[in-house]
Amino acid sequence: MAGTRSTRRTVGPGRKSAALLLAGALSLILADALGAQGFRTRMRFQMGSLTEITVPDGQYSAQSVSRAFDVVDRLDRLLSTYKADSEVSRLAALGKLRVSPETMEIAEASLRLARITGGAFNPMLGPVIALWRQAEELGRLPSPEALEAARTLADFERVELDRAAGTIAFPVRGMGLNFGAIGKGFAVDKAAASLQRDGIRMALVTSGTSSHRLIGRPRGGACWELGIRHPGDAERAVTVLRLGPGGLATSAQSGRPREIGGRIYGHIVDPRTGRPAEPRSPVWSASVLAPTATDADALATALIVMEAADGMALVESLPRVEALLVRRNPDGSPRLVWSSGLTQRGTLDGLPLIVPVTEIGCMDGGASSGPAGAAGEQALRAQPKTQTGRPPPPALNRW
Ligand code: AMP
Ligand code: MG
Repeated sequence: MAGTRSTRRTVGPGRKSAALLLAGALSLILADALGAQGFRTRMRFQMGSLTEITVPDGQYSAQSVSRAFDVVDRLDRLLSTYKADSEVSRLAALGKLRVSPETMEIAEASLRLARITGGAFNPMLGPVIALWRQAEELGRLPSPEALEAARTLADFERVELDRAAGTIAFPVRGMGLNFGAIGKGFAVDKAAASLQRDGIRMALVTSGTSSHRLIGRPRGGACWELGIRHPGDAERAVTVLRLGPGGLATSAQSGRPREIGGRIYGHIVDPRTGRPAEPRSPVWSASVLAPTATDADALATALIVMEAADGMALVESLPRVEALLVRRNPDGSPRLVWSSGLTQRGTLDGLPLIVPVTEIGCMDGGASSGPAGAAGEQALRAQPKTQTGRPPPPALNRW
């Protein structure tokens, strides 16, 4: 996909658009909603998926964009569990390692998010995820004993971070980090920061089509418009989000299915069982808006693991965090549930157009028609955010 210089086109049921060129997309970029302004998009294959950087023509600099891609390449080399010489792999092999500042930073962020989510997002699932990866290769499920042994190693409270010494250490052999649920968000944040250091004031950085960092606003004060993919139909979007700057990430079990012995398993693990998450109250896809893509990415994964009401209560307790859940009706149709800081402002090409309440500049989408009022949605929205404070965090199980 070269530069997008166009009038508005949107993604809708049965339609093809430029955005759908993003194979495997969870969030779909409505590139054409970038408006009459000319934009240029460049891509590089990194971290096992595509990184895309979109910058307005007037601010485009090949050097700056290359520098931003290089930042992601460096993170890939440091953090990948697929590379034997990455810091994450060497740390797992040695049990203790002096790491670079970026690795320390993502480890600290990960532990913070693990605590916030009560362990639903757990960066210490390294050994568990390795077992499932091996199972896919062998075509055979992991044994319950092996899974249980790996699961007990996934105790994020036992990781020892020494910021002053720059070291990370594990008390037990076999423990290991896996940043699969947060690394892409962290990478787009760092790439965006690099663009900003170079003076670029407006950009969209995407990794894996599911983690996004938005800088500035297109068309001098307008908003970014991103479509959220239908979790059961890659060709369709279920809604359009109209956004200001910040992070957005989408997770879904259908995002990267793995086949083992003729059955399909999701790639998101429930840390309580060590098995692919199958929540009692299923969340088909979870999209999170947060100030950074790092936070959005980890939280989106956690929302797939958590029971829907608990997940939404967590979101309501976090300042400047919003979420859109796509749940699955018994007839297989999607049902949207959104947090109290989001509201529907009409429709765009037949899709609900959802905007953050606080992003005044994004509220030009027409009259509010409010969210659909299903009983379950009302229950999830029972604790509205207020300007004076938020409801206390829900009591979550320690997983
Ligand atoms: P995402 O696509 O951002 O939801 O991240 C999913 C990836 O993160 C998986 O492919 C695993 O590598 C890893 N992962 C799976 N389950 C979890 C979890 N509960 N917490 C943290 N990382 C996970
Ligand atoms: Mg994630």
